[in-house]
Amino acid sequence: MIRARGVQKSFGSAVVLDGIDLDVNVGEVVSILGSSGSGKSTLIRCMNGLERLDGGLITIDDFDVSNPKDLAEARKRSATVFQLFNLYPHMTAVENVTLAPIQVLRIPRAQAESEARALLDSVGLGARADAYPAQLSGGQRQRVGICRALAMKPRYLLLDEITSALDPEMTAEVLNILAQLARTGTTMVFVTHEIEFARTISSRIVFLDKGRLVVDLPTDRFFAGDGGMANARIAQFLSKMR
Ligand code: ADP
Ligand code: MG
Repeated sequence: MIRARGVQKSFGSAVVLDGIDLDVNVGEVVSILGSSGSGKSTLIRCMNGLERLDGGLITIDDFDVSNPKDLAEARKRSATVFQLFNLYPHMTAVENVTLAPIQVLRIPRAQAESEARALLDSVGLGARADAYPAQLSGGQRQRVGICRALAMKPRYLLLDEITSALDPEMTAEVLNILAQLARTGTTMVFVTHEIEFARTISSRIVFLDKGRLVVDLPTDRFFAGDGGMANARIAQFLSKMR
């Protein structure tokens, strides 16, 4: 499981994460909602070791992301897909997907390539495997991004607003892939503004407000308005999103 306890993070004098406690169990889809600037991306970046914590603890399967001796093991267990399509422009889709498995996991090239082609096929890109990023639509690029993460066979998939730069049609293409992954039991931490989609795939909803985790509820209870003191804030957020 992913476990966060009392996580603190500041940039200069701005406290961006303030005592975050969160558990993500294997098999869960946990969606993180909250206004822009509430700390969602910073929390993801702390989970994958891209930001140093100022206080508290994050462990991934008991490996401490703040411990240099544990970081490699922690990182092996999760893979992140970001908002921007950060594919290598000079590499084809299949080359982008095989790069880390070959270099990091030391998988033989032929095997990595056949696995990558199977992954690309599973997201409807079998025929585009040899295309360069510039020859792909935004939705196709983001599907390659998902394949690149999955090629590392992560136990946890971290997704940070991966559809927010896409038009509605391309968003639907990408969300369909996530729904497919959720059905096969992939554990996901899903930062999104796609509220209705989050509602359909999440086991739990977490709501961040100004760096504090103010609600952590099963999805049906979140949407039933069981957020207690945070309800007014959540209602305001949801009304802006819909
Ligand atoms: P969200 O993803 O919820 O929109 P972020 O985690 O990106 O929020 O940002 C939370 C706050 O931290 C924002 O006020 C943002 O400006 C600030 N912030 C994020 N990254 C940095 C950074 N590297 N340096 C300074 N401030 C940052
Ligand atoms: Mg963000």
